[in-house]
Amino acid sequence: MSQDLKGQLMHLMAGNITCQDLIELITEYLEGSMSFSERVRFQIHLGFCQGCRNYLSQMKTTIRTIGKLPAEPIPDEVRDELLKRFRTWKKG
Ligand SMILES: [Zn+2]
Repeated sequence: MSQDLKGQLMHLMAGNITCQDLIELITEYLEGSMSFSERVRFQIHLGFCQGCRNYLSQMKTTIRTIGKLPAEPIPDEVRDELLKRFRTWKKG
């Protein structure tokens, strides 16, 4: 790949983070400790990802309820998967 093309791709990707990135960055986002460019990328992702918008609103609800950020935010699908496994363990 030429350096020029690589540069163009990097530029395109700059506006793009994955759901996993977003989950890892959500604490910084909510604390306001995120840099401007990270915040922009975060918001671009939220703009097209319904799942992450739901996740963000859940996190905000959690903060309102317990008054602070949870030590380790756990995505729903991870929590559900753990609960599923836990039930299986109990059965076994
Ligand atoms: Zn997402």
